[in-house]
Amino acid sequence: MKFHVLTLFPEMICQGLGTGVIGRALNKNLIALHAVNIRDYTLEKHGKVDDYPYGGGAGMLIQAQPVYDAHRAVCGGRPVRTVYVTPQGRPFDQRLARELAREEELVLLCGHYEGIDERVLEEVVTDRVSIGDYILTGGELAAMVIIDAVARLVPGVLGNETSAQEESFDNDLLEYPQYTRPEVWRDKAVPQVLLSGDHNRIAGWRLEQSLQRTRSVRPQLYERYRQRQSLAKRLSREKRSNIHMMESLARGLGEILYENGDTAAVYLPESRICMACAADGAGGRAILDRMPREAELVVVHQEGLKQLLEETGFQALFSCRQFLYTQRKTLPVRHKDIRLLGMESFAYLCARYEMDGPEYVRERLTSGAVYGAFVEGELAGFIGTHREGSMGMLYVDEAYRRQGLAASLEAYLVNRTLERGFTPYVQVKPDNLPSLQLQEKLGFYQAGPLYWWMERHS
Ligand code: SAM
Repeated sequence: MKFHVLTLFPEMICQGLGTGVIGRALNKNLIALHAVNIRDYTLEKHGKVDDYPYGGGAGMLIQAQPVYDAHRAVCGGRPVRTVYVTPQGRPFDQRLARELAREEELVLLCGHYEGIDERVLEEVVTDRVSIGDYILTGGELAAMVIIDAVARLVPGVLGNETSAQEESFDNDLLEYPQYTRPEVWRDKAVPQVLLSGDHNRIAGWRLEQSLQRTRSVRPQLYERYRQRQSLAKRLSREKRSNIHMMESLARGLGEILYENGDTAAVYLPESRICMACAADGAGGRAILDRMPREAELVVVHQEGLKQLLEETGFQALFSCRQFLYTQRKTLPVRHKDIRLLGMESFAYLCARYEMDGPEYVRERLTSGAVYGAFVEGELAGFIGTHREGSMGMLYVDEAYRRQGLAASLEAYLVNRTLERGFTPYVQVKPDNLPSLQLQEKLGFYQAGPLYWWMERHS
């Protein structure tokens, strides 16, 4: 991923990001940083870039021309997502960090003085982002905050691929307290439970600590967590049918759109997918009333709701069956060489996984969601987690079939999913016999009904 920063102080950006984890990632070329001095593009012969604001008022403004020319020099006409850091922008959070981490290139524009002439912002900026409700003297620190949070999500930057996956905010909860050696320091002992070796007890203690912390420090975040949990509990009465909705809530991907008795809808803003179940027609209409206009896909498993959607501009894309793995024990993985794939496997995947198109493949690869099986160093097949949480994309090259590679890939992903505390589930088209047999072989349970993926047409 490449970051371009348009700034009056490029040396501040390079110094600020040149050390530690981000510095190492830069040295390894996992990310690239390009700090551009806006002043280099001014046409004013003394290098001036600012002027007085029309209508009066304190301070100076950066003029439109040097910003526009610097941006053109960097992007060369390509449509690159361009973030203006400003206290007037969308609040920066972990969700936005994840969204930005999927870009291949990002421009960050730093203001100074009183800001930048609005006309150039209208021309080049795609997003306005604030790092908090306070005023900084310039945008450089804000740009560095964003780059740090985004870069650490780029696969490989943290080294340990799981360490970015269980942190504060991932599930609307703040992280639990952590301790390292010595066991006793200034008469303070590490909590006994952490020395017990009992993983279940440790996980329970950590969850309790997270809950306490979030409740006292961030009551609104805690309330959101509580609402999700209560809906997840309600949905768990029909766990097999509702696992897709429960998992989107548990993984922090979905927000509650509507809930009332047996009617519920969850919306996944990053993927524009809505998952819904309705007790009756009134419930279905209540969901439709609340569905955001941007929602592109809806997943349902009730005929009535499917029909209602068809009457309101949706069409069935395909149907599938849903299987879930309800055990906590991990599965044996026979094939040993399975690894996380990155963009180097893009062409290989695109040639073999056509269903959702190259943009989707790129997004999944850069999100660290795809694993490959290697035979004598050659990539022989892959599997991935879809953006809404189900496992899929399974493919094994013809030459390597009937050797148990598909089973190994799926067992491997089941284990990774369990490690993260989630329930593995898959959706399989009813005519895909090899996959249906594989789910049975691995001990998955089938949920009763058919599921329809509905696409918005009008
Ligand atoms: N007059 C501007 C206003 O009231 O919105 C504030 C200008 S500020 C002194 C100068 C620059 O610092 C801004 O153009 C912006 O790039 C950056 N900046 C200041 N506070 C920020 C924040 N909380 N988040 C992101 N950028 C910020």
